[in-house]
Amino acid sequence: MTYSIPDEGLAVGHIAELFDGIQGEGVFAGYHHAFIRFAGCSLGCRYCDTEYAQVRDRPLLILRSGRTVVKQIANPVDDTIIARELESLLDTTTSINAISITGGEPLEQPRFLRAVLKSIETFELPVLLETNGVEFENLDQVLDLIDLISADIKLPSTSGRDDLWERHEAFLNAARYKQVAIKMAVDESTQPEEIERAARIIRATTDEAPVFLQPVTDAAGAITISYRHIMDLCDVCAVFNSDVRVMPQIHKILGSP
Ligand code: SF4
Repeated sequence: MTYSIPDEGLAVGHIAELFDGIQGEGVFAGYHHAFIRFAGCSLGCRYCDTEYAQVRDRPLLILRSGRTVVKQIANPVDDTIIARELESLLDTTTSINAISITGGEPLEQPRFLRAVLKSIETFELPVLLETNGVEFENLDQVLDLIDLISADIKLPSTSGRDDLWERHEAFLNAARYKQVAIKMAVDESTQPEEIERAARIIRATTDEAPVFLQPVTDAAGAITISYRHIMDLCDVCAVFNSDVRVMPQIHKILGSP
């Protein structure tokens, strides 16, 4: 089974949002980032906090701090539009220190993603790729333009998918020579066996990548896992991985969606 959507081969594609805000996850958490959120994702996870970005048929929203919409642009767009809007965003802020490419799933539009990455090289900022960690076939098209990859491992308990283990392993193998961080969303239903299986894959495929256990936040903003349970999961992961961290999504604690 393949999860990739055929790419058009042109430097046009679908973007859901371009905005700035506090990076709420992973090794860059707490920094002010510019975000380019690609539209479209075919995984359909049970837990998804960006369902609006799973589809490609909405306009691109340009937002500013506080998530105020300042402009809408019809999709598809070309990479020069993204570079222009990003330049405008960077001109109005001083503390943005990196660009996060997120989604949706950016690697479902690999040629367009490459075009966007080439267009934004001029800003000379580190680029973080946030990905669901399954599109291994497309990763090599952009590896040279990415500084850090934040890859998910989708656990069956929180994603509803039990068919992605081999794709995650292939992805981490493909990313082996880049700086990688791993994220796993966990809740009270997450089983130690899932964590162990993921931890073994991470140990076999990465050079001691940091592993972030990320408690799922519900629609009301509440953490959906007990402190005791996440500590137990942390213990399981730490048997196989030397750098395990528990980190809630801090942008949500700060009031961002
Ligand atoms: S991979 Fe991410 S964007 Fe896609 S459905 Fe899952 S959580 Fe949502």
